[in-house]
Amino acid sequence: MTQESNFDQNMAPPKVYSLRGKPCTFVTSIVSLKGLPPMTLPEIAFAGRSNVGKSSLLNALVDTKGLARTSNTPGRTQQLNFFNWDERVFLVDMPGYGYARAPKEMVASWTRLVKDYLRGRVNLRRVFLLIDARHGIMKNDIEVLDLLDESAVSYQVVLTKMDKLSTTERASIVGRVHALIDKRPAAYPVIIATSSQKDWGLDELRQALEDLLF
Ligand code: GDP
Repeated sequence: MTQESNFDQNMAPPKVYSLRGKPCTFVTSIVSLKGLPPMTLPEIAFAGRSNVGKSSLLNALVDTKGLARTSNTPGRTQQLNFFNWDERVFLVDMPGYGYARAPKEMVASWTRLVKDYLRGRVNLRRVFLLIDARHGIMKNDIEVLDLLDESAVSYQVVLTKMDKLSTTERASIVGRVHALIDKRPAAYPVIIATSSQKDWGLDELRQALEDLLF
C-alpha cells in the first residue's frame, strides 16, 4: 500500500499575494492600437465616466501619488494609459467617457478605440467599471455595459466616493446597482464599494485584482 499525504498531491502552490507597495511604473499611452504593448502580462483595465474618481482610485490602489494624473479637464484624454505593476500585471487606465460637452467625434473615437482594444486583448482579465455612488448607473454607463457584454469581457462594478453618501444611501445604491447588473452576461456579481479619500474598499479591490492573476 502506498503512503500518500496531502502534501504529495492536489496541493496548489501557495498564492503570492500583495502587490501593495510594490513599484508601479508608467509604460505607454496609446491613441490607436498600433502602440499596444505586447501581451506579456495579464491585464486589468479601469473604465468610468469622466470625474468618476478613476485617477484618485488608481493612485490610492497602487499607493503611488501622481501615477495617474487627476484631471480638472474632464473628457480631454482620449488615450489608453498602461502601467506595469511589479512585473505581474498591466493596469490600463481607459479614457473617461460621458463628458457632457464632448463633441460627437470625440465620443465616436472613444468608442472606436475601446471597441478595438476590447476585441483582441486576450490577456485582459477584467474591466473594473467605476460608478460614482452618488449618481449610480447612468445612460452612458449602460452603453459601456452593453459594449462590454457584446465583447464578452468580464467586468465588475466598483462604486466610488462612497464617503459622500449617508449610511442609508450606501445600502440603497448597492441594491440598485445589483438590480441593474445581475442579469448581465459578462458582469461579475460582486460590487466593490470604495472611497479613495477614506481608504474604504481598497483592500477588497486589491484582493479582487490579485485573485485574477492566478
Ligand atoms: P477622474 O476624472 O475619473 O480621474 O476623477 P478624479 O480622480 O480626477 O476625481 C474627480 C474629483 O472627485 C476630484 O475632485 C477628486 O478629489 C474627487 N474624488 C475622487 N475620489 C473621491 C472619493 O473617494 N471621495 C470624495 N469625496 N471625492 C473624491
